[in-house]
Amino acid sequence: MFDIPFLRPKLVVKEEYMDYLKQIDDSRSYTNYGALNTSFEQQLIQDLFQGEGYAVTVNNATTGLILAISQIKRPGKYALMPSFTFAATPLAAMWCGLEPYFIDVNERDWCMNEELLQQVIQQLGDEVAVVIPYATFGTNMDTSFYEALQERNIPVVIDAAASIGSRMNQHFGQGFSGAVVFSFHATKGFGIGEGGLIYSSDKETINRVRQASNFGFNEDRESMQRGLNGKVSEYAAAIGLATLHVFHQKKQKREQIFDWYMEELEQTGLLDLGWQLQEVRGSVAYSFFSLLCPEKRSNAYFVEKLAKHGIQARTYFTPSCHKQTAFQSYPRTSLHITEQIGRRIINLPLWEDMDQGHVQKILRGLSHEG
Ligand SMILES: *Cc1c(COP(=O)(O)O)cnc(C)c1O
Repeated sequence: MFDIPFLRPKLVVKEEYMDYLKQIDDSRSYTNYGALNTSFEQQLIQDLFQGEGYAVTVNNATTGLILAISQIKRPGKYALMPSFTFAATPLAAMWCGLEPYFIDVNERDWCMNEELLQQVIQQLGDEVAVVIPYATFGTNMDTSFYEALQERNIPVVIDAAASIGSRMNQHFGQGFSGAVVFSFHATKGFGIGEGGLIYSSDKETINRVRQASNFGFNEDRESMQRGLNGKVSEYAAAIGLATLHVFHQKKQKREQIFDWYMEELEQTGLLDLGWQLQEVRGSVAYSFFSLLCPEKRSNAYFVEKLAKHGIQARTYFTPSCHKQTAFQSYPRTSLHITEQIGRRIINLPLWEDMDQGHVQKILRGLSHEG
């Protein structure tokens, strides 16, 4: 057991969604895009996306990626994506009959390197079925390159699993004409247990995804296409609605903890000793705090050192996808930066009821020798 575990999710408590549960009991409608789910989708579009675009809930972001890729992809063989992502990204492409093709990331923001990506697109031509960038750890990455790909008829699905609440002028993904897939997993910034959301500015895309997520049914319950069951229950929608009411405060708490980390980093002087941060754009509902250890050191050493102080840390995404058994055989560019980050990254606890003392203890645990 750790004094400070890596994750300590805190979802809305039952008092906050009792009224919604009562509505379910009264309506006896439990799923199939019921009233609460419809209201959740509409409020997400209103509250987060300023009323622009369309969205459909899914039972998790992995299903969401599968549905989005399957609806948006063009004929072709490859799904271009970073290796520095969660296994769900390449797995979703494989479920759609595609081969992942791994591209290196940028040293600064840890998102897919667009120059390398452009080269691979040129090389593969029609064999590119879809491009799947990942907005790493919720950063508001610039999507203009990907919007331009969409215009060239190269479909794009953004893995935005960690990006609910990410904003810079507007919410991340707003107005994007491809598909943007968010996760509501308990460990993410907007946790409801299991769940996800597919967003697009294109109505037809969301209509098709919704149909595919309900057995491919048309109004006469005839399967029109390869579908599955990706729907969320009204109970999940109830928790989602209750979470939406308090999400602003939840995000503020996470930002406060992030600020403490920055303050303590200054105090400990780690950034002058070769430690490095991700360059993050805009504001994010962080799930953890990420740092790179000095180049000549290895993250394993620091994770062990923290463990001795009763602190649990992780090293996402190590091993990165191209090193995992399921994905080893797939083609890739040089993954020099991905591998370097993999050796250096340390993810630190950032959960809602941490206080400044926790943050102090964590960073001092990192900085003291021995
Ligand atoms: C969490 C995560 C997923 C999967 O989300 P689920 O809702 O758990 O299926 C996919 N991609 C990335 C990058 C993630 O962090």
